[in-house]
Amino acid sequence: MLVQIDAVNGTVGILRVVAFQVDVLQSGSLGHWQCVLGGAQQHRSMYWRTMEIGALPQDEAKYDGCMQQLQAFQYELRPDGRQERQMRRFAGSCRFVFNKALALQKERYEQGEKKLGYAGLCKLLTEWRNSPETSWLADAPVHPLQQTLKDLERAYGNFFAKRAHFPCFKKKGQRDSFRYPDAKQIKLDAGNGRIFLPKLGWLRFRQSRDVLGTVKNVTVSQSCGKWFVSIQTEREVEQPIPKASSVVGIDMGVIRFATFSDGSYLEPLASFRQHEAALRKAQRCMSRKKKFSNNWKKAKARVQKIHSRIGNARRDYLHKATTAISQNHAMVVIEDLQVRNMSKSAKGNADKPGKSVKAKSGLNKSILDQGWFEFRRQLEYKLQWSGGMLVAVPPKNTSRTCPQCGCISKDNRQTQARFACVECGYEENADVVGAINVLRAGHARIACGEDVSRAKPAKARRAASVKQEPAEATQPSQMLV
Ligand SMILES: [Zn+2]
Repeated sequence: MLVQIDAVNGTVGILRVVAFQVDVLQSGSLGHWQCVLGGAQQHRSMYWRTMEIGALPQDEAKYDGCMQQLQAFQYELRPDGRQERQMRRFAGSCRFVFNKALALQKERYEQGEKKLGYAGLCKLLTEWRNSPETSWLADAPVHPLQQTLKDLERAYGNFFAKRAHFPCFKKKGQRDSFRYPDAKQIKLDAGNGRIFLPKLGWLRFRQSRDVLGTVKNVTVSQSCGKWFVSIQTEREVEQPIPKASSVVGIDMGVIRFATFSDGSYLEPLASFRQHEAALRKAQRCMSRKKKFSNNWKKAKARVQKIHSRIGNARRDYLHKATTAISQNHAMVVIEDLQVRNMSKSAKGNADKPGKSVKAKSGLNKSILDQGWFEFRRQLEYKLQWSGGMLVAVPPKNTSRTCPQCGCISKDNRQTQARFACVECGYEENADVVGAINVLRAGHARIACGEDVSRAKPAKARRAASVKQEPAEATQPSQMLV
């Protein structure tokens, strides 16, 4: 567990408590906390994640110095002709099942019926496999087909939780993949660089690195005519101790991809912009060909290749950025941006045409281009692996609050790039101000002992804040380590 210590000079150190025999007592009229760590009693004035302390008795096992680490290892497959045809068919069967189930759910919704659950869909899947019209479904392994239904279930869940758009039908050639969930049916022969998958047999793969841990599940996917296998494993690793002790706030932007509260920043990758001209040319070339002709197929392959190159460049950039950040900082505070809201269509509808359509579509392109969600996802797990943590704060007023006097005004931000306080005259780059405010909001959240991994809706947040005021956060304290 992590304990936050607010030192005199305003910096924050993170203390990792290895022993989990922690007793927390409240004593004294000032409400100072006492902390008994592994028998040696040390008095500290501090604030910490009360959530974790509350959860200690049940979660004891988690703090025994080890943690389970899930990791996926991806390799390029080297299938023979028969295996490749089989994989294409299996991916097609999964797509068919997904689309059929989605169509069915939509139909039920229109008729006012309740949505079918996963179990209900699985029953239908058995019927489809047995019916003469779709008997070819029986050639595909059953588990991947069921996993597709699980994916659909999750897509619905994400939609209802307002995390994603309504699930849409799958198209051939777009993210062709299928997943084997049962480790018992999979055999990994790492020494010979091959893996056994149901109904495919032994498949060779390019072993670019070792597989660590025990296999949990396997996903087979296709991109640009190449087939890949992603092996997810689980292994026990020692609970890491963060090497760095610094805390940083990050402001995400379009002009600067990420600005840090210490004033440094990352340039945007703009991989899409770079390849845009080439992509447009290839797309134009494709549109002039007769659809489904051989030349059209060649042109289409070229378009897909550029798309995949963009994706690779972006992934590489994000991985390098998040690795560097997670190794250099023990705690990272970011804004909990609802990318879904920000990238909503600006066009509006016929009755209510949207404002600033052009500007917003440009922003959309930039946001989606830069992969903010992926950035956050990577930061979260990489920080966890390095012993640090990620704190998400609601983005309210972070761009308009003066870090010096606390004045909140729209006029503080006269231009996109410059911040100038109307009260005290403080001037700074607007993104740096945003990052500083994000960092402060992160400190405040931790002090309140809220669940920090995700910003909550305003109502729940208020309730949580009332429960525990950050009484200690404002008092400077001494470090007694
Ligand atoms: Zn000011």
